[in-house]
Amino acid sequence: MRPLEDARRAVIAGVRPLAPRPVALESALGLVLAVPAVAPHDVPPFANSAMDGYAVRSADVGAVPVTLTVTEDVPAGHVASGSVGPGTAIKIMTGAPMPAGADAVVRVEDTEQVGRRVTIRAAVTEGYSVRSAGSDVTAGVEVVPVGRRLTPAMLGVLASVGVTTPIVVGRPRVAMVSTGDEVVPITTEALGPGMIRDSTRPVLGAMLTELGAEVVDLGIVGDDAATLAGVLSEAAASCDAVFTTGGVSMGEYDVVKQVLSDLGTIEFWQVAMQPGKPFAFGLIGGTPLFGLPGNPVSVAVAFEQLARPALLTMMGSRTVLRPRIRARLTESVTTDPSRTVFLRGTVERSGDEWSARLSGRQESNVLSAVAAANGWVVVDRGTERVEAGSMVAVEMFGWPESRPVEEGVT
Ligand code: AMP
Ligand code: MG
Repeated sequence: MRPLEDARRAVIAGVRPLAPRPVALESALGLVLAVPAVAPHDVPPFANSAMDGYAVRSADVGAVPVTLTVTEDVPAGHVASGSVGPGTAIKIMTGAPMPAGADAVVRVEDTEQVGRRVTIRAAVTEGYSVRSAGSDVTAGVEVVPVGRRLTPAMLGVLASVGVTTPIVVGRPRVAMVSTGDEVVPITTEALGPGMIRDSTRPVLGAMLTELGAEVVDLGIVGDDAATLAGVLSEAAASCDAVFTTGGVSMGEYDVVKQVLSDLGTIEFWQVAMQPGKPFAFGLIGGTPLFGLPGNPVSVAVAFEQLARPALLTMMGSRTVLRPRIRARLTESVTTDPSRTVFLRGTVERSGDEWSARLSGRQESNVLSAVAAANGWVVVDRGTERVEAGSMVAVEMFGWPESRPVEEGVT
């Protein structure tokens, strides 16, 4: 068996980042900058008020109360026509540019205006309630990191410096096909003898969509070599990656392995993890092929641990692994020490720590236990038993990747 971290490195080494392209900002969520975005100007572009209040000279309001003459009002989006001189103030709204001469703002709550005279009740020092130019982003700096997927806030930062079409690594077009004579469409009304509904494709499709891939759904192909070969070679020619589920286990009569072997340079691995041990990876005419197991829980784990890091690498991300938290396991578990085991767990806050319990049956076909879980409880290779009350690592579902592959030793 191949240790998980070795398998992961091999998969990552087998893929290449996709070509960069300019993308409209509103379509760039989850993609990775290919070229640094440098701020052409400061943000804020000018010093402005952080409060509704009065722009003053701090020297005038060192001792309070003091009454000043209000010379004008300046709303956001407008510029004061005059400046603030000794004994005067300009009424200012949040976001309006600081008038010349003023070096602080007194909040309206700390004042009382009658006619053009305002009484200041709170002393302020220089810079109080003033947002200085460049205090958010300084002109000339790289505004968001290269190698991290763009978040909503990063899109906002790019917008604030006028980057409307960032150059990003391409969005992968990913084909997926379920294999197996027993697998029938989810719309099947009455299941025939021996038939099961296709539950892997919805899981895989959703995981791909969540990652930002463009999913090309090729449906179900039975265990028929000619049909499968046709579907897969066409998919490899038109997509950036191809996924299959089923047909890669050991020692079975299965056409999938033969078809994959004939189509490209595909290797069949026994990965030292549970679930998700059988895994196929290789290239069909340069396009990566990920052959996931058939059991739905194995599909989820193999996708998370092997395929997702590879797709993130194709997307230009330098972080590919989800963060882990430490949680106290509420029950004892015995696992296969020859493999890294990913148990389905429910993590909850318990006092000032996290606690984790198993969310249901742990067989690799029991998808309902994944549905009831919120994280993978990780039991490292070499560990056979974890006692109740021990601390364990948990990878939380849906938490964005934060660790480079070098940290993936388990
Ligand atoms: P296989 O590796 O093809 O023998 O599949 C392993 C197990 O997963 C078998 O019990 C299959 O019936 C099951 N399986 C395969 N594909 C699917 C699917 N698309 N949805 C649900 N179960 C599946
Ligand atoms: Mg099968």
